[in-house]
Amino acid sequence: MIDGFTIIDGHAHTYMDDLAERIITSFTALHMMEPSPSIGKGTYDDLAGSMRNNSLDMTVTANFGPVKAVDRINAWTLDESKRRGCIIPLVSVYPGMSADALEALVAKGAKGIKMHNGIQEYDACDPGLDDVYEVCSRLKLPVTLHCGEVSRHHLNDLTDEPHMEDAVRTHPDVRFVITHLAGGDPDTVFHLASRYRNIIFDTSIAFTGEHCIHRIHDDFWEDDSDAAEAFRKVGCDRVAFGSDYPYGNPISDVRRILSMDLTDEEKSLILGRNTLRLYGMD
Ligand SMILES: [Zn+2]
Repeated sequence: MIDGFTIIDGHAHTYMDDLAERIITSFTALHMMEPSPSIGKGTYDDLAGSMRNNSLDMTVTANFGPVKAVDRINAWTLDESKRRGCIIPLVSVYPGMSADALEALVAKGAKGIKMHNGIQEYDACDPGLDDVYEVCSRLKLPVTLHCGEVSRHHLNDLTDEPHMEDAVRTHPDVRFVITHLAGGDPDTVFHLASRYRNIIFDTSIAFTGEHCIHRIHDDFWEDDSDAAEAFRKVGCDRVAFGSDYPYGNPISDVRRILSMDLTDEEKSLILGRNTLRLYGMD
């Protein structure tokens, strides 16, 4: 808790201890990220230390990996989050995953779904995901979608905004988190926000106060008053703070939100309450 506000980081990643350094090195190289001392180590221990040092209350881990590794990563994510507490774990999916398999993960503590369609190389509307979406609708499991480009590297078009919009439009009974402020383009945010009620936006990377990633998107979010006005236009009940730890630094973004010309109610929603409500923990 900071200044009386409950702080929930709505978007972070953790990796197994023996793989974290290698994954972060290759990810930052692939995405041509500027070297920054604020990049975390990406392990649960490092995340826990960062949360403790920065007075964060909870963190959503949006772990995923290549399709062939998803089952293993899901099992590890749920084990670790159960053991450690203060973690809201998401699991990842793939076309062909059965309803039973997903329900078993929910029984073990999964609170939602994460897809990174560009890295996982399947379409968010792949018919093989029909069972997954049916479970998400029935059990009210939110789906977090990587959206847009957050670096100079364009992997493929699977996370481009039209694909994300297709997923949101064709699953109106599923709630979605559109990450990275839809890749950072404010017009896309306004377009999606005005058309679809079943989405909220996370602030990760696009809004960050740290310049740890080469920007290819609009610099619109760098201006505090423009950002505050945009949050109000979207609705502060539909914007959630996320850091993308280890790539983003949670505390600099929290401090920036606290310093913005928003009401305490609006800050409280963005910094934690929207995410708690999304996962039925309010
Ligand atoms: Zn992420």
